[in-house]
Amino acid sequence: MERVCTIHSIVPQQQPLWEVELARLLVKNCAVLQIESQRPQVSLLPEHDIIINGNLIEAVQPTGQADPSRFDEVIRADGLVAMPGLINTHAHVPMVLFRGLAEDVTIDRWFNEYIWPLESNLQEEDVYWGMMLGLAEMIRAGVTTVADHYFYMDRVAQAVERAGTRALLGWAIFSSNGEAMIERTADFAQEWNGAAEGRIRTILAPHAPYTCTDDYLRACAHKAKQLGLGIHIHAAETMDQTNASLAKNGRTPIQVLEQTGILDVPTIIAHACGALPEDITLLSRYEVGIAHAPKTYLKLAMDLTPIQQCHEAGIPVGLATDGAVSNNTLNLWESLRLMSMLQKDRAGTPEVMSIPEALYMATRESARVIGMADSLGAIEAGYLADVILLDLSGLHHQPLHSVTASLVYNTEIHDVHSVIVDGKVIMRDRELLTIDSAETVVQASAAMERLAQRQPNRRIQTYNP
Ligand SMILES: [Zn+2]
Repeated sequence: MERVCTIHSIVPQQQPLWEVELARLLVKNCAVLQIESQRPQVSLLPEHDIIINGNLIEAVQPTGQADPSRFDEVIRADGLVAMPGLINTHAHVPMVLFRGLAEDVTIDRWFNEYIWPLESNLQEEDVYWGMMLGLAEMIRAGVTTVADHYFYMDRVAQAVERAGTRALLGWAIFSSNGEAMIERTADFAQEWNGAAEGRIRTILAPHAPYTCTDDYLRACAHKAKQLGLGIHIHAAETMDQTNASLAKNGRTPIQVLEQTGILDVPTIIAHACGALPEDITLLSRYEVGIAHAPKTYLKLAMDLTPIQQCHEAGIPVGLATDGAVSNNTLNLWESLRLMSMLQKDRAGTPEVMSIPEALYMATRESARVIGMADSLGAIEAGYLADVILLDLSGLHHQPLHSVTASLVYNTEIHDVHSVIVDGKVIMRDRELLTIDSAETVVQASAAMERLAQRQPNRRIQTYNP
């Protein structure tokens, strides 16, 4: 059970918050959120230190045992709550450029009249600045890892490298790109897998069964197997897609994934809202994780991922934002809240999706979806040091009877105080250390101006599942 931890104040002003001294990183005197590995149960360890050595957590121990003079850097975290950095299991981050441009339209019009015409004019420099803008937004929100699925991914990788975050990157491709593009994206995947001191991992990313032929999916699966990589793909996004696929060829989109060999490699599926019960049984036989992006589903009037059925079948479901044209932010706290409340609403009882369950999904389970269950999603010795510090002293948390309830239902992005990724501080006391946000906003706006001036390009896709 959670121990109630009242946070009276943050650090007194006269004390320096950061004292740079010697070799390792000591996060001193915070309340550490502990999430059990096997079942959703959470607790808080008040007045604890987190000892970070290189990119790993070395120990979590009561404050006072470690000698601060033995550390390179000491973060005074009095009154702050430490939890694992959030993991966005499915996004198209550079789409922040188009935020607000496709509103109040059906999913068909969203793709055909807005997104694909806009994307057909994108150039790699636009993608880079869109990625930088989205990374800045995510760091501020405490999102330390993203599984991103977009274009010009070498530029996306450069942005991640510069921002200091963690990412699983896949270059989105369609059959209309041709077979050569599979090789191009495989080259990207090989070049960048393990880059940025291991913070970047790669994956292949055929877009969806309705935009890739069976042969194309087979070729992607073959290439992924050959390279020892996984696949990140959209499938059964809506029940309409599942029905259209059944009407067209008698198979559900999930069955198409199985028949084309996609499921023979570890697979992330976005969003499986149209998964039938037999699809879930099928998926339970494979190494599959599902990305759940509830705000997109609400905005585009889609169905919901059948989370409860997935859990009963042992399939992990992680939190996601999807792109900012359907979200309209990259704020995973909002996804967490919507996920939790939608489950209660649809089940007709507030007793489902408890706070520990929601926090488990946001951390350990999301790590499992992206294939990092043993190294991400917990503050424990041996895990990667991706830690966020939250300041819950704001009025919207007071009186603070339950930290974990506040984390699920009340937390806003400005409550994120500091962010550590791979043992390095990338946001300190709400100041971004790796991204110049003013420059990034200017560059992203300039990218949109350039894009608006380009001649309409040949659209590579039509949404017609
Ligand atoms: Zn998507």
